[in-house]
Amino acid sequence: MSARTVLGARLTALCLLAWGAVASAQAPVPAPPVVVTTTLLAGNVYAVDGQGGRISALVGPDGIFLVDAQFPAVTEKIVAALRQLSTSPIKLVVNSHVHGDHTGGNENFAKLGATIMAQPNLRLRLVKPSPGANGQVPPPAPAAALPTLIFDKPFTLMMNGETVQIVPLTPSHTDGDTAVKFVSADVLATGDVFRSVGYPNIDRSNGGTLKGLLESMDTFLSLAGPNTKVSPGHGDITNRAALQAHKDVIITVRDRVAKMKSQGMTVEQIVATKPTADFDAKVGNAAASADRFVQQVFADLR
Ligand SMILES: [Zn+2]
Repeated sequence: MSARTVLGARLTALCLLAWGAVASAQAPVPAPPVVVTTTLLAGNVYAVDGQGGRISALVGPDGIFLVDAQFPAVTEKIVAALRQLSTSPIKLVVNSHVHGDHTGGNENFAKLGATIMAQPNLRLRLVKPSPGANGQVPPPAPAAALPTLIFDKPFTLMMNGETVQIVPLTPSHTDGDTAVKFVSADVLATGDVFRSVGYPNIDRSNGGTLKGLLESMDTFLSLAGPNTKVSPGHGDITNRAALQAHKDVIITVRDRVAKMKSQGMTVEQIVATKPTADFDAKVGNAAASADRFVQQVFADLR
């Protein structure tokens, strides 16, 4: 090898090294591809997990009924997963609340022929969105994404041999929350009013309230029996005992925050006392949700 070739080879090696260093520093880590899974809960009711809030699906010859729609980018995968369970058309989608990881797929499902159903406030918030956590106002949802079947009282669907109770909730996580009880299968879909991991998110900019959150927990407890499978918007499938424990945590934290607030402490001082600390390990995801919850409780207390 000539001196020139050796130098050339060294330069190439250096360039490759440098390129490698830049590439590892700058190249975005590609997100793993979304995998959509279906899990039988009971009867003809399945949990559908992909990206965003969990979908609960009732399948059968009368058509497919979905609680929530996840993001638009995963619709195709959701449909493919549902096709493994049933060849029936997707007829109905009820939105548990307005957040994009639950309503983003509305437009796609509507174009596939589904009727989108929701509380009136949810429709209003899709037309005129509230500012997000970053302060920016998202664009209005396209017309096809808007619910066309609007309800403000509980009603019942009879479908695929199942009795489906659609239960609009008082403003809790948002002011357009809805729960769904599959009576025969004994499955309760709670949306994000109840998550089985992390503290509640009272989204006050979308009309959520602490008082309503606690009322909705009571509604869930009245809808759930000892064997009910509880299908939360996020987190593992769980049961009535977890609902009760979650409600107890909310009340205890509320009372702690209220006491400190009445003593004149600021929200920063109260957050610094870590009023959730003894629950954090059990509740889970505390780093992302505990301080936010304390701040929301503080803001909501009068
Ligand atoms: Zn949500």
